[in-house]
Amino acid sequence: MSALILIVEDEEDMVAILEYNLQREGYQTRTALTGAKGLELAAEEPLPDLVLLDIMLPDISGTEICRRIREDARTRSIPIIMTTAKGEEIDRVVGFEVGADDYVVKPFSIRELLLRIRAILRRGRPEESAEDVMTFGRLKVDEQGHRTWVDDKELMLTAMEFRLLTTLLKRKGRVQTRDQLLDGVWGIQAEVTTRTVDTHVKRLRQKLGAAGAYIETIRGVGYRFQDKAVEESA
Ligand code: CA
Repeated sequence: MSALILIVEDEEDMVAILEYNLQREGYQTRTALTGAKGLELAAEEPLPDLVLLDIMLPDISGTEICRRIREDARTRSIPIIMTTAKGEEIDRVVGFEVGADDYVVKPFSIRELLLRIRAILRRGRPEESAEDVMTFGRLKVDEQGHRTWVDDKELMLTAMEFRLLTTLLKRKGRVQTRDQLLDGVWGIQAEVTTRTVDTHVKRLRQKLGAAGAYIETIRGVGYRFQDKAVEESA
């Protein structure tokens, strides 16, 4: 079945363009012209496979919607791509903080957007893994279920953070350059910068708390997941 994409956008012209192009690519679409409607449709069965979320909406801001989608257990693993107008740099940072997986800056090319959607949806369906649950020190990761625990307390990671964590964990003990992580996590076609990697690693470490130290920064090179779990002394 083709993926269902929820478009939350108040500009009707933009909605029409997005709907047309997404449907032409074979996606199903659902649209909301307000934030309130967007929240409602994000939780409606069947759940969307991805949300395209405008930051500037008339009623509820995109960042607030993102936060609420992440708070709800049913919807929290749905990937979110935020769309921001040029110059909304602060909103973009906030977007990552509240759990957006990616963002595109308006005016964006439809082609670029489609590439990012495809890359994110591909990640959403991981290949069968031999190990369902990986444990490392205080960390436990259920790859199939997209769930993460530290000291048996469950964390809320975005789809992108989860992908980053599992990628690093599976390559533990090996240094990963930012470019390698971009290829492995975001997909080779993604037009994101190496700074995006740093932003996500930083955020992931914060969420991991005590287990954040497992991800080491290799100055001038990239990152490495520890070979053996060593916690920072408290
Ligand atoms: Ca808008």
